[in-house]
Amino acid sequence: MPVARHIRRNDQVLVITGKDRGKRGRVLRMDAKKNGAFVEGVNIIKRHTKPNPQKQIKGGVVEREAPLHASNVQVVCPECSKPTRIGRKILGDGRKVRICRKCDGVVDK
Ligand SMILES: [Zn+2]
Repeated sequence: MPVARHIRRNDQVLVITGKDRGKRGRVLRMDAKKNGAFVEGVNIIKRHTKPNPQKQIKGGVVEREAPLHASNVQVVCPECSKPTRIGRKILGDGRKVRICRKCDGVVDK
């Protein structure tokens, strides 16, 4: 499985499948091994944890984000604020950037 390269941390993304379809959020972090994206406020699961005083973890039910598969989210373009597929472009200064296929705007700042 290739690693998803179209999504990065801090991207705004739209969920396109699953129970949270239609929700938007910011990518908190990526799980490269599983091609997963942790998206703020999306795919919340309840974790039952045991207390661990050494790590200052209280027992109980903790709500946290579970990763979505990268293919289930689309990047929201910061220029046209539409969910879009990602293209690539090399700028005059040699920088490789991701571009929006809809408006050709640069997604990377
Ligand atoms: Zn765009």
